[in-house]
Amino acid sequence: MARVYNFSAGPSMLPEPVLRKAQAELLDYHGSGQSVMEMSHRSSWFEEILANTEAAMRRVLGVPDNYRIGFFQGGATQQFAMVPLNLMTTGTADYLVTGNFSKKAAEEAAKFGTARIAASSKDRNFTYIPDVKAVEYDPNASYIHICQNNTIFGTTYVELPQVEGIPLVADVSSMIFSEPTDVTRYGCLYFGVQKNVAPAGMAVAILREDLLGRSAKGIPAEKIPTMMNYTTLLKADSMYNTPPCWCIYMTGLMMDYLEHEIGGLAQMQQINQAKAKVLYDYLDGQSFFKNPVEPRYRSRMNVTFTSPTPELDKEFCAEAAKAGLLNLKGHRLVGGMRASIYNAMPPQGVEALVAFMEKFRRAHA
Ligand SMILES: *Cc1c(COP(=O)(O)O)cnc(C)c1O
Repeated sequence: MARVYNFSAGPSMLPEPVLRKAQAELLDYHGSGQSVMEMSHRSSWFEEILANTEAAMRRVLGVPDNYRIGFFQGGATQQFAMVPLNLMTTGTADYLVTGNFSKKAAEEAAKFGTARIAASSKDRNFTYIPDVKAVEYDPNASYIHICQNNTIFGTTYVELPQVEGIPLVADVSSMIFSEPTDVTRYGCLYFGVQKNVAPAGMAVAILREDLLGRSAKGIPAEKIPTMMNYTTLLKADSMYNTPPCWCIYMTGLMMDYLEHEIGGLAQMQQINQAKAKVLYDYLDGQSFFKNPVEPRYRSRMNVTFTSPTPELDKEFCAEAAKAGLLNLKGHRLVGGMRASIYNAMPPQGVEALVAFMEKFRRAHA
C-alpha cells in the first residue's frame, strides 16, 4: 500500500491512526454487529458516540460550559447564512473581508440585513490582514465577522478584533484544532470539518449560550427555516433530524487522536509550527519560488507559492504528482501552487515537498 502526500485544501488527509481505527471498527462497531454508517441515530450506540464526540471536543478545545456545540449539515457555506439569520438582531453586522470566503460570507449576510465591510485587504490582493485595532467598528453591529485563516490566500490573523459588547464570529474552517484556541474570545466559532477534522459533510458551530433565541431584525424566529435555526437544532442536541452520523463518529476519533496520541493542541501547534517553518525557511532561502504574503500574516496551514512562470507552475504540479505529492495546484483566484499542511500532513511530507522543490529549482533555474 502506497499512501500519497495529499496537499489538498480540503477534503484533505486524515491521520493514519484515525483511519485504522475506523477500519478496525467498520464491520462491527463495539459488538453491535453493524457499522456506524448503518446504525440508527437513535440507538444507544450512536447516542454514546455523539455524547463522547462532544465531550472530547470540549476537553480538547477547552469549550466552557456556557457555550453550546452543534453538528450541522450544509458545510461552512451554510453557516454564512445561519449566522446572520440567527444573530443579526440589529439588522447590521461588520465584516472584515480578507479573502474569498469572508467575501462570500458578507454577500450571504447582505441578504438578511446590512453587511458592512468594516475593512478589506483586497487592495493588495489579500496578501495581508488589516490592523484590527485601527478598524472603525459600527457600535450598532450585531457582531463582527472574520475568516481567521484564509485557505485560498494563505494568510492568518495574528490578533483578533475584540470590541466590548459586540460578539466576534469567526470562520475557523482551515485552522481549528491546529493550535490552542481561547473560545471565550468569540461569540460564535464555526468550521467545515473536511479541512482539519473529518470527512466532508458537516459543519460545527460553537455558540455562546446568551446568543441563542434570537433572529435577524425583521425576521421573526419562527420564520427561520427549521434546519437553519441554531436554537431549535441545539435544543434537540443536533438530533432534530438525522445528523451526519459518520462525520460525528470520525470527528470523535480525531478528538481521541488529538487528546491521547498527540497530547493536546499545544503539542499539535508545535508540530505544525515546525512543519510550516521548514517550508517558509526554504521559500525565504532562494528566489526561484515566491510567496506573496506579508510574512507576519503567513498561514501555518495553507502555504502559497509561485514559480517564475505559469507554464513552470503547471509542470511543477504535474511532476510533483508523479512523485506522490498531490494536489499542489493553487486556487484559480491566486494561481501558482498551494501546499495545505493541516494536522494530518506528516513532517516527512513537508520535507519531501521541499526536497522536490529544490530538485525542480535546480533543473529549471
Ligand atoms: C473550505 C472553506 C469554506 C467552505 O466550506 P464548505 O464546507 O465547502 O461550505 C468556508 N470557509 C473556509 C475558511 C474554508 O476553508
